[in-house]
Amino acid sequence: MFLKPEVLKALITAAAAQVIASAPELTALDQAIGDGDHGANMKRGFEAILAKLDAIAAEAPGEAVKAMGKTLVMTVGGASGPLYGSLFMAMGEAMLRGKRLPEDLAEIFASGVEAVSARGRSRAGEKTMLDVLVPVLEILRAEAGRPDLAQRVRAVASAAAERTAPMLATKGRAAFLGARSIGHIDPGARSSSVLLHAICTSLEALP
Ligand code: ADP
Ligand code: MG
Repeated sequence: MFLKPEVLKALITAAAAQVIASAPELTALDQAIGDGDHGANMKRGFEAILAKLDAIAAEAPGEAVKAMGKTLVMTVGGASGPLYGSLFMAMGEAMLRGKRLPEDLAEIFASGVEAVSARGRSRAGEKTMLDVLVPVLEILRAEAGRPDLAQRVRAVASAAAERTAPMLATKGRAAFLGARSIGHIDPGARSSSVLLHAICTSLEALP
């Protein structure tokens, strides 16, 4: 009931629109500590998802989320493509194994975060998307079922992305900069925050 095709379509559209609108900002962040392609990479991936939206949203929720992941792997490129792809594919697979929304949200998200960590050989504290994904997972675990959970996730995601600025990058391209990576928000942390914001805002707007 929770993820009817219309709802799924609305969520995916909102997430894609927000990521695409944020492309210039993501590019600017990646210009500071990477190679400046993160905005274009994410935009390409989410445009590809939008192009297949009807087919994706018509699938069972687990298959749909997995299909989003596969599309991201095929189209985003860079380091972030396989990482975001793993996030969505693992969440879809958890749902296909019988985990359900909304009751198993934290467990489903945990499967995705573990897949990113395994694929990236990374963990929180290294100035990557995991510095947003892990604190959000903690909130989902600690505050599951709270009526204001979506609002809490938004606040935690924004604050967590900001907190990557003083961190030293030890993974990904930014790690090559060493101490010069300090003082800039990580582009992938920011794109994770943008995605989570869009999903939470459209969940809050559901009737
Ligand atoms: P590339 O670095 O190949 O140009 P992108 O610019 O699209 O790819 O993505 C960069 C983002 O990917 C970084 O800001 C970081 O958040 C994330 N990232 C890179 N390497 C890792 C890793 N090993 N684990 C987790 N996230 C990573
Ligand atoms: Mg890049």
